[in-house]
Amino acid sequence: MPGRTGRGRSPRNRRGTAGDPDDPALGIDIGGTKVVAVLLGAHGRVLARSDRIVLSRRGPDAVVDAAAAAARSVVPGPRARPRSVGVSVAGQVDPSTGTVLYAPNLRWRHVRLGPLLSRRLGAPAHVVNDARAATFAEWSWGAGAGLDDVFCLWVGTGIGGSAVVDGRLLEGGLHAAGEVGHMPIVSGGRRCTCPGRGCFEAYAGGWGIASRACEAVRARRSEGVELVRRAGRISAIRAETVFGAARAGDPLARRLVLESGRYLADGSVAVVNAFNPRTLVLGGGVLDGWPAFRSVVARAVRTRCQPPAAAAHVVRARLGDDAPAVGAAALARGSRRTRAE
Ligand SMILES: [Zn+2]
Repeated sequence: MPGRTGRGRSPRNRRGTAGDPDDPALGIDIGGTKVVAVLLGAHGRVLARSDRIVLSRRGPDAVVDAAAAAARSVVPGPRARPRSVGVSVAGQVDPSTGTVLYAPNLRWRHVRLGPLLSRRLGAPAHVVNDARAATFAEWSWGAGAGLDDVFCLWVGTGIGGSAVVDGRLLEGGLHAAGEVGHMPIVSGGRRCTCPGRGCFEAYAGGWGIASRACEAVRARRSEGVELVRRAGRISAIRAETVFGAARAGDPLARRLVLESGRYLADGSVAVVNAFNPRTLVLGGGVLDGWPAFRSVVARAVRTRCQPPAAAAHVVRARLGDDAPAVGAAALARGSRRTRAE
């Protein structure tokens, strides 16, 4: 139960300062195709930024080398080496040991990312889930700033989330609170990347939308001509292919977008009922690809949530693609649970 976590464990003032805000912190985000490094100054200001393309198939050492190179390029000199390094990754992590337990996009299992990076950078590296890091950034300086109850829903290739409840970022018993992408929305439904079936992200995440599109085209080739023309072949159809074809008026793509909106609305209604946020922040590549999903979700929350929850505002994330690296840096600099100053 995520609701009982993160509260009452720490004597720290709920409004306590997250470390020294003037102390520059290094933040790194490791994605499936790219690593981003930022040097974070006071009040969420990014002092320097760098990114590198990575080929995850070359294995963890190659990715960690690229991350360390990006990190070194944002540090002004060896004497200015930051005391804290935060690293976010899309997957389940154990922050106490710095281990990535499972990251499907990187095909990593039990990778000791924290120690690998610490050795290269000469400073302790704190590992955090990317949705959690991005939520911390949006809560501190973005769309959730000034609020005590926020849920950030990240709809990208998969779906991740993280909750701020009563002014605290929820952690969870095993550091996985807010993994709503694996909340079943269709009993016995589509197979997921996790052991379950019918998960939210298997329908409304980027890979879920792409997989539903491929299936629809294989079932009726005549309806899928436009999608195949755009992608080159059926297996190359992505969520972005569907959005582009829908914008051009293709009937199958438009139907897939309509259905995706319904699934996104179903999952969001469940999240808002469960967590009762004042604001639901929506971000990620699927929202960037089809921005009208925000109003679809807003309408569903207003009309289908139980009365107190239905008052939640539904807004877009503000900090963009750097939010996980910014949040990882801020979390490494200070408290794990209190808002950054
Ligand atoms: Zn799942």
